[in-house]
Amino acid sequence: MALLRIRVHPDPILHKKAEPITEFDKKLQKLIDNMIETMFTDDGVGLAAPQIGVSQCLFIACPEAKPGTELVFINPQVIETQGWEIAREGCLSLPGISGEVPRAKKIRFRYQDRTGESHELEVKDFFARVIQHEMDHIDGILLIDRVDIQQRQKIMAEYQLL
Ligand SMILES: [Zn+2]
Repeated sequence: MALLRIRVHPDPILHKKAEPITEFDKKLQKLIDNMIETMFTDDGVGLAAPQIGVSQCLFIACPEAKPGTELVFINPQVIETQGWEIAREGCLSLPGISGEVPRAKKIRFRYQDRTGESHELEVKDFFARVIQHEMDHIDGILLIDRVDIQQRQKIMAEYQLL
């Protein structure tokens, strides 16, 4: 396995909509394994393919932050959301900063696993937040796009100083 370089804002790939995955081949399996290793090395609870320079609809999530409990999500589609709440979030592509981001409390979505098989899953609270954050990455959206203009200016000023 190999560690992958994490792209940081303002890398243009982070602001681009990713392409759906159609081939569940060996190359994809290798990419997924390398993403899992990279996520744990960088202490992340999620990592989306655009963050390592691959513009494809794929992300890893591990709300428990424990190796072996990570889940792989491919071509996800939201079915339903419920409620909302604001909480502090960070991002490996915005090192050193965090923001108060509004997210749905509960989310039901459809996705494919690493073999291409389809599933439906309902998650809530922190898990739902991680999923929404990673889904945003494959839509080319960062947490700074989800906060109000005042907070965005403050966060970006801090980011520039780091
Ligand atoms: Zn992120």
